[in-house]
Amino acid sequence: MKEGIDLRSDTVTEPTQAMWEAMNNAVIGDDVFGEDKTVMSLESLAADILGKEAGLFVASGTMGNLLAVLCQTKPGDEAMVEKLAHIYYFERGMASIAGVTPVLLESDNGVVRPDHIRAQFRGASGHESKIALLCLENTHNLHGGTVSTVKEMEANYAFAKQNGMKIHVDGARLFNAAVALNVPAADLVRGADTVMVCLAKSLCAPVGSVLVGSVDLIKKARQWRSILGGGMRQAGIIAAAGVVALETMVERLAEDHANAKYLGQELSKIPGVTVNRELIHTNLVYGMLDPKLATPAEFEAKLQQYNVYCFAASQTEVRFATHKDVTHNQITEALGIMKKLFIH
Ligand SMILES: *Cc1c(COP(=O)(O)O)cnc(C)c1O
Repeated sequence: MKEGIDLRSDTVTEPTQAMWEAMNNAVIGDDVFGEDKTVMSLESLAADILGKEAGLFVASGTMGNLLAVLCQTKPGDEAMVEKLAHIYYFERGMASIAGVTPVLLESDNGVVRPDHIRAQFRGASGHESKIALLCLENTHNLHGGTVSTVKEMEANYAFAKQNGMKIHVDGARLFNAAVALNVPAADLVRGADTVMVCLAKSLCAPVGSVLVGSVDLIKKARQWRSILGGGMRQAGIIAAAGVVALETMVERLAEDHANAKYLGQELSKIPGVTVNRELIHTNLVYGMLDPKLATPAEFEAKLQQYNVYCFAASQTEVRFATHKDVTHNQITEALGIMKKLFIH
């Protein structure tokens, strides 16, 4: 994390004291030989929490998502993804490595509905390839950390099943959604075949994500992980922090959500910054900038001079992510600096 107030992302969070201790005391072994007990307990803990049979510890969310695609498609297939989905917009492995063509879906601020899926089904031209997979993202990052409810997820699961698609949930911030809705995370993914959750974002572990699914699928994912160079040997050292993340860091996300609402409310008082506060469901806040005020890059650069860090997310928007390592008081301080800089 940068010195100062770092609101660029929840990935900048540092391990808690309990994580450092768990890492220091971790029982380890060679995980490629299947001998790292800490990795194995993390994998089964994640599977239990998410209501699936088995889990696989992976280096990153990107790797977990790619494995889900590789295990549930073949080259030439298509996969449906929301058009700002991280798996499509940032990751690119679906097309370049899995050989799968993305079919882009519209959404209501990141919430995909069966009508959006239906709209992209092809006619019987003889040219269409198999739409093998539906990917859903919850919370939806680029739409502002927006949450899909259990009901909304289930409508899509039912539709996908009726149409022969497998379902992958990119749950990089699934626990934020669960806390915002006050439901167990497993309820959100009951109909999904695979789910990826990140440990290194709001849950504050230093590294890693987990992919969960059926025993057979995870076996296949382990083979693909090996092909991608993702076998990590004494990975129990980092998995130990992941166990602490899942066991102790979920409930406190409510604090981050409250801080985000506060940040959004105050940010919207700066003339030239538009915040759609209704979309602040979790820990992400997007501010749309009037070009007369500043470009996102200029806004970011100005704040940096005061050791306050945000993220120029696009040509028009800046993003703030609240997390464990920024307190309510620091947010007040950051807002004071923004108001001083941008209210003329
Ligand atoms: C961060 C993120 C990922 C990828 O995770 P990495 O660990 O950075 O590879 C995937 N999906 C979403 C929605 C994300 O926010």
